[in-house]
Amino acid sequence: MNQQGNIIVVGSGIAGLIAALRLSSGFRVTLVTKSEIAESNTRWAQGGIAAAIFPDDSIAEHVADTMRAGAGMCNREAVHILCSEGPARIKDLIRLGVPFDERDGNLARGLEAAHSRARVLHAQGDATGLSIEMTLVRALRKADVEVLEHTFARDLLLHNGRVIGLRVLTENGEDRDLRSDHVILASGGAGHMYLHTTNPASATGDGIAMALRAGAQLADVEFYQFHPTALALPGTFLVSEAVRGEGAVLLDANGHRFMEMLHPDAELAPRDVVARGIAMQMAAQGGSAVLLDATKLGGDFLARRFPSIDAACRGRGLNWADEPIPITPAAHYWMGGVRTDVWGRTSIPGLFAVGEVACTGVHGANRLASNSLLESLVFAWRCADLIEESSSTWSYTAEPYGIGGVIDLPMASESFAPQIQLSDRKQLQSLMWNVVGIERNGYDLGNALTQLESWQVEGTTVSSLETANLLELAQATTRAALARRESRGAHYRNDCSESSPDWQHSLVFQRQVTVECS
Ligand SMILES: Cc1cc2nc3c(=O)[nH]c(=O)nc-3n(C[C@H](O)[C@H](O)[C@H](O)COP(=O)(O)OP(=O)(O)OC[C@H]3O[C@@H](n4cnc5c(N)ncnc54)[C@H](O)[C@@H]3O)c2cc1C
Repeated sequence: MNQQGNIIVVGSGIAGLIAALRLSSGFRVTLVTKSEIAESNTRWAQGGIAAAIFPDDSIAEHVADTMRAGAGMCNREAVHILCSEGPARIKDLIRLGVPFDERDGNLARGLEAAHSRARVLHAQGDATGLSIEMTLVRALRKADVEVLEHTFARDLLLHNGRVIGLRVLTENGEDRDLRSDHVILASGGAGHMYLHTTNPASATGDGIAMALRAGAQLADVEFYQFHPTALALPGTFLVSEAVRGEGAVLLDANGHRFMEMLHPDAELAPRDVVARGIAMQMAAQGGSAVLLDATKLGGDFLARRFPSIDAACRGRGLNWADEPIPITPAAHYWMGGVRTDVWGRTSIPGLFAVGEVACTGVHGANRLASNSLLESLVFAWRCADLIEESSSTWSYTAEPYGIGGVIDLPMASESFAPQIQLSDRKQLQSLMWNVVGIERNGYDLGNALTQLESWQVEGTTVSSLETANLLELAQATTRAALARRESRGAHYRNDCSESSPDWQHSLVFQRQVTVECS
């Protein structure tokens, strides 16, 4: 085999697995993942993956829906790439063996909020992510890739402003430096910045924090999507949008629908509108959960179409075929992340980012449902294409999409606030949930930033390193939310509740790196 160099991929969700698989024939690939290989947000994805593959649909309509959801903040080029390359990548997934559901001999499809067409493919009912993850893991096991499970990526190694490898914490608790020509971050999002989240425990934003420390640019970090409907019970299990797509409705504590009064599309309004509607209703009810009524869909249909949710309800003593179930909004998807061009290149030579860790600008201020698996797939594929085709001539030349200048973030050590040890991650998560969550205002954001900058996290266990990463990201998110003096997409400020044309650009953050890690 003619191997052209070493590549480290961080993360084993759809983005990392696709990148590793694609590059395994030409490069020596090491995949580092902090838990078991199948653990990822991907594994928990339910609703499906969107693509304009049906005859009554078009790329132009998928583009238009995506841009509308993104509230004026999408990178049009990236959206066009997502929607036009998506159908071919879906066929690649089918070739790899993903068992998408069929109806009458054709691919089955669901409708989700803010899509003008039913274009969401699913597998094993609501176990789409699990089907994709397990299919890709099986393929990877057969490929020539070294897999390091239970290995925590800690920091990037830099030399002369270029990434030259990765420092990891091994299962035995030892630091180890892995050298490579390139590092591809595919380490997912950071749902655990918030008290309530649909994300598994691994989603602590390590890759984004690591990139920030290395001097990479972050963009759009003020835009965090809150899923409107997770079970209001321990574990915050997601109840897919597709349930509302099939006709389930939201009820207040008295059994009355309330979304019809808030938006013409009622329960299928954009996610931020539904999440805010539910949060407002919960506040009006003194904090008690809102109800999701799926009873009219019938027990057989619910069990067949949504087997995972059905099992989760039953496991918690709920029979959703007979009675409405309690739900709450929860942190779900980060539109912001490490800023990349449309090939996954970051602002640091040698460093790529794909999937939820990245900000390609595809989602703008709000993600269209079921576009994130597609984004991970399409842009991980493109990143591999770029690396394969032009391994000797990469450089980051792009000015990917409109920005309003780059804002320097202070180094943690530059903070003048007295430093207090943060003893419990929950303190951070509660502050973020209450102040930097679904509804924000400038006064509280300012106080929260002071509080966040007064905290520090010590320790070298995986858990304390994760909390330190979450703290860095919470500071950046709060700073961005404070800076953006308007409301747009998922960022809603009750002290400036309208969108302003003056703010139709990304906020980009960067930290000047004075000390290199190598
Ligand atoms: C409950 C739920 C339902 C969803 N439903 C849908 C849906 O229906 N459709 C859709 O399009 N999207 C959905 N999403 C979003 C979608 O699943 C994710 O955006 C997508 O899977 C991200 O893929 P990824 O490969 O970028 O990251 P992930 O799949 O999150 O993978 C990240 C990987 O990085 C590893 N990792 C993280 N930090 C480190 C570290 N420090 N060191 C080593 N490894 C590390 C993790 O262990 C994991 O393996 C859903 C998300 C959730 C949580």
